[in-house]
Amino acid sequence: MHKNGNIQAKWLNISVIRQADERIYCYVSQFSDITEKKKLDELYLAQANYDELTRLPNRNLFKYQLNKEIRKSRRNNSLLSLLFLDLDHFKDINDTLGHAIGDKLLKEVSLRITKCVRETDTVARLGGDEFAVILPDVIRSRIEMIAQNIIHVLNEPFILDQNQVEQYISTSIGIVLYPQDGIDIESLMKHADQAMYKAKMEGRGRFCYFTRSMQYEAFEKMILTHHLRSALANNELQVCYQPILDLCCKRIIKAEALLRWKHPERGMVEPSIFIPLAEESGLIQEIGEWVFQQVCFDIKQWQNVFGYVIQVSVNVSPIQFKYFSDHSWSASLAQLGLPGNSINVEITEGLLLKDASNVKDRLLEYRNAGIEVSIDDFGTGFSSLSYLKKFDIDYLKIDRSFISNLINNETDRALVEAIIVMAHKLDINTIAEGVETMEQQDMLIQFGCDYAQGFYYSEAISVKEFEKLLVDQQSLDNETPG
Ligand code: C2E
Ligand code: MG
Ligand code: MG
Repeated sequence: MHKNGNIQAKWLNISVIRQADERIYCYVSQFSDITEKKKLDELYLAQANYDELTRLPNRNLFKYQLNKEIRKSRRNNSLLSLLFLDLDHFKDINDTLGHAIGDKLLKEVSLRITKCVRETDTVARLGGDEFAVILPDVIRSRIEMIAQNIIHVLNEPFILDQNQVEQYISTSIGIVLYPQDGIDIESLMKHADQAMYKAKMEGRGRFCYFTRSMQYEAFEKMILTHHLRSALANNELQVCYQPILDLCCKRIIKAEALLRWKHPERGMVEPSIFIPLAEESGLIQEIGEWVFQQVCFDIKQWQNVFGYVIQVSVNVSPIQFKYFSDHSWSASLAQLGLPGNSINVEITEGLLLKDASNVKDRLLEYRNAGIEVSIDDFGTGFSSLSYLKKFDIDYLKIDRSFISNLINNETDRALVEAIIVMAHKLDINTIAEGVETMEQQDMLIQFGCDYAQGFYYSEAISVKEFEKLLVDQQSLDNETPG
């Protein structure tokens, strides 16, 4: 302690100096000020265990706490619960409003979650928009109450900027119990993650308990991914074509390539099942390249047989943009002597919002080569209209959900009409997806929609069947006089 009352950490070294006969001659004490070292140690400790942004325990400390609570729970025979939380569509907020606002939101979220639990509970940030809550010594009814309460408080609006605009977010929660759902940190965390994923799948903004069947689903997913790895080599994948008609003359002038997987034991596996697996495993890169090559081959065949180019739309997953591809599509087309606009790349709305340089570069490469670009499932995602112009989009594909309600729902009808008008003002063409009836077709024609595809004309068919449609169309043309 200083004379003025300040307390400072000091390192004190005392040495004894002895005479030749071993008697003590004197003591020498050396002080050194270690306040700075202490502060630094504390900082290192905090950095190693706490999240810098929210000041919550980080993954390290969370695991340590969970381990401690597991042991305590085992000793006392008490129930322990672990909640895994993931914010829904947090990336959209980060991408559209910027990281500073995203950070502010995460801080506010951590405060709100902390208010829902007792002091003895642990709230941790595991990274990104993932949080975890450890509830030691708890009863079942309280777990549900807490989960419900967290969902409720996070549903309340957030004010994050000076303009006082209200932002909304929701959260999905996975719940596991110790010991019934796992007896160590690894299995509890894995199962909480599976339960959280299920909550997302079931519509987000909800909680879900872990069940053994989820473990089975995860296992199934692993097996199917394993099979998908060999599907290409085993010739189990097939590109089918769905015709796209010009609504002016009702002629097939384009097609969309849709992938099919004929599994040797399970039969046809839907793209909605295997594309997400291909995306998660990174296989989409290889599969996407194969689809492109296959499509180029078919377009070239048709050009030789029919004497004209049929443009084919190829779906490109956002994951494919993440990786650098050494196969330039424009170079492949040039090599085959096909014009750039033989290919139309279908991307989703969300991709443009990322504003990442690899997305920009790839879209620029397409534009320079004449490859056209469509926004798939337009109207269902998070759109920024200004981006449509900035990225030189050629087509909007109006999502099937709007078309199916076209006749019965006034709002959807107004939306479809407005999308078509807006697109035309921006010099963008429109394609209606999922046209199933003549009534829908006629209304689309009335609204000035340019193209249509859907079961009313044809579902996705094999290359041979598609060629037959083209042959029939050509013979009809030849029969028509003039
Ligand atoms: P998408 O690109 O929006 O494709 C349209 C989906 O709607 C296709 O489903 C098609 O069969 C279906 N469809 C077309 N017309 C109608 C209709 O009139 N009524 C109804 N009810 N459905 C219609 P599909 O083939 O199951 O494909 C689902 C999704 O899988 C596609 O949605 C696309 O996002 C993805 N996908 C398909 N092939 C590929 C591919 O080669 N690569 C990538 N990355 N994704 C693909
Ligand atoms: Mg598509
Ligand atoms: Mg679509």
